[in-house]
Amino acid sequence: MKDVTIIGGGPAGLYASFYAGLRGMSVRLIDVQDKLGGKMQLYPEKIIWDIGGIGPKPCYQIIEDMIGQGLHFQPEVNLETRVTNIEKLGDCHFEITTDKDEVFETKSVIIAVGGGIINPKPLDIKDAERYQISNLHYVVQKLSRFSGKKVVISGAGNAALDWACDIAPYAESVRLVYRKDKMKGYEGTQAKLCDNGIKLHPNSQITALIGDDQHEKIKEIVLENSETGEAETIPVDEVIISHGFDIENPLLEEAATQLEMENDYQIKGQGNTQTSIDGIFACGDVIHHGAKAHLIASAFSDAGNAANLAKQYIEPEAAEEGYVSSHNEIFKEDNKEIIEKYNQQ
Ligand SMILES: Cc1cc2nc3c(=O)[nH]c(=O)nc-3n(C[C@H](O)[C@H](O)[C@H](O)COP(=O)(O)OP(=O)(O)OC[C@H]3O[C@@H](n4cnc5c(N)ncnc54)[C@H](O)[C@@H]3O)c2cc1C
Repeated sequence: MKDVTIIGGGPAGLYASFYAGLRGMSVRLIDVQDKLGGKMQLYPEKIIWDIGGIGPKPCYQIIEDMIGQGLHFQPEVNLETRVTNIEKLGDCHFEITTDKDEVFETKSVIIAVGGGIINPKPLDIKDAERYQISNLHYVVQKLSRFSGKKVVISGAGNAALDWACDIAPYAESVRLVYRKDKMKGYEGTQAKLCDNGIKLHPNSQITALIGDDQHEKIKEIVLENSETGEAETIPVDEVIISHGFDIENPLLEEAATQLEMENDYQIKGQGNTQTSIDGIFACGDVIHHGAKAHLIASAFSDAGNAANLAKQYIEPEAAEEGYVSSHNEIFKEDNKEIIEKYNQQ
């Protein structure tokens, strides 16, 4: 039985994990994805400016720091695990069920599921899945990967247009393929496509992937134009699919213990990160309360608050807030190493 089970390993869940550890609680952290970081994993090379006290940094670096912090007190981590049910059995006693038919017992729960489970819409043609481990991508992890390459991007939303403009300076060529005659992305970005030499293929879609001799990589794609009915075969090095996302959040609708909701996507905060059920707290994008901004910074603030409330729920005599980290004995040994490192610089 853990003191707290945190569902969701994005910024909110990771900081809740750290703060609950700082408060001396035993923590279990669960996420359906194969890595921690939440939504930020969707835009790893974007630069983030608006987290207080942290200078502009690429997202992947902030994710790395958040994970280091979130795992500092060695929580039990369960990845690729979808929570399907939360049931309150009594005071300080909840059961969390997962899609692996595991049942975890916990004294309190922090829900940090953001906007739910987000997966890119897959390309529904033969062999698409096979090439996902080589040169078919749904998220751009590193722009440098596309240096000197022939790149085809399928999609016409903001992400597709942004990636096209970001990759163009490095790539040998970039083509943008989209089904309609108009794009959906911002007009300002559309204007930049031609300046960047990006070749546009309106009214078109990818209808076949042709592999190399070993069927390890896509070497050509077939594009069909719905206006002219013509098909052309194009050599490619990398294919990026940006057809939007499938988003689902069945947990909040179907859990045995039902929470009062603010709207279809957000739990109603009872003044702060307390939900309508004692012992269940929520933080980050999934909760709505009076002092809310949809920012990473706000997720951190919620998470500390949720961990403090969970601590008090399982130990009513505990202090309302954790002791500041700068004077907290819990970091004494780690601080010695950190000070030594700084002195050597
Ligand atoms: C394109 C884009 C750009 C952004 N840029 C900025 C920016 O510059 N600055 C800024 O401050 N904010 C930005 N944001 C917002 C920021 O990403 C979010 O506010 C932040 O990620 C919220 O964190 P979270 O932990 O609440 O949710 P998330 O990051 O969504 O994490 C939720 C986690 O819960 C997991 N999960 C969901 N359901 C389950 C389940 N049933 N079982 C197990 N796990 C589950 C998910 O897999 C996910 O890992 C941006 C958002 C987007 C989409």
